[in-house]
Amino acid sequence: MFHAMTGCAMLALCPLSAVAQAPAERPPAPGTPATIPVLSKEIMPGLFLFTGRGGNAVVRATPDGLIAVDNKVMRESVFNELRDAIAKRAGDQPIKVAFITHHHADHGGSNARIRADGAELIGHSNLPAILTTYTSTIAPRNPAPPSITFEREHRVTLGGVEAIAYHWGPGHTGADIAVYFPDQRVVVAGDMLHMAGDPAIDILDGGGSLIGFRDRIDDLLKLDFVLAIPGHGENAVTRDEVKLYRQRIQQLIDRGIAAVRRGVKPDDLRDAMRSDDLGFRLVGHFWTDPRYIAPIHAELLNAAGQP
Ligand SMILES: [Zn+2]
Repeated sequence: MFHAMTGCAMLALCPLSAVAQAPAERPPAPGTPATIPVLSKEIMPGLFLFTGRGGNAVVRATPDGLIAVDNKVMRESVFNELRDAIAKRAGDQPIKVAFITHHHADHGGSNARIRADGAELIGHSNLPAILTTYTSTIAPRNPAPPSITFEREHRVTLGGVEAIAYHWGPGHTGADIAVYFPDQRVVVAGDMLHMAGDPAIDILDGGGSLIGFRDRIDDLLKLDFVLAIPGHGENAVTRDEVKLYRQRIQQLIDRGIAAVRRGVKPDDLRDAMRSDDLGFRLVGHFWTDPRYIAPIHAELLNAAGQP
């Protein structure tokens, strides 16, 4: 496979496409989260959100160690910064269980370090294969694969705290998982909720789907959560905010379906769907690289019931 993929981040932070013909040394887009320090906040008692330096990381403290979801970009200094922030907030305990929401290197950059310290890495069963075709341009190498994989649902109990990981199908990528803490009614959604910018559909080699992206939000909403933690952004969001986001995604899809019905070709699809009123600018490689637009166009044609 010639294709290479970046991790994704909020719209303005998303590195441009890392295609084979692109210079490998292409710097990250301005405002990359790698430049933003790790900040932390307590979302619920013992449940902490760590923003900055890549995708959001979440840690749940238990009497028997820590449960982590994602771990930011791959850099020794970032790992140390995150580890120190976790120790300060959640206690100087080992991470015993580390969920990986998907393959992008701004979310699983420290997988190998955390695994070396003794944690089990838990991810979807599609993750190892996707990692074999992925080449991050924001990290010197790909995130380490999971040590434990699952198909649909995986439950872990540590120190009396239950965490349930779910995979419902393709969306942001083909290996998206959400991690639900039923006692606190909080779900960690990763980039399944890519609410800090455009919807990011890693549809080429990442296994994502635009229609699936909407459907995964519906799946999330079937969980009894009061707060959801997106893959980027400073805050957890409420159920109502997730519902509003779902509406915006549906409107975007509706515009895409209307466009293909009137014969808009892939080259013009982005302009036809662009929707400042919805807050989507559709910039970044997921929306500007023709190799991503073609399968989006095909998905929309299929959704429109047209060959
Ligand atoms: Zn991502």
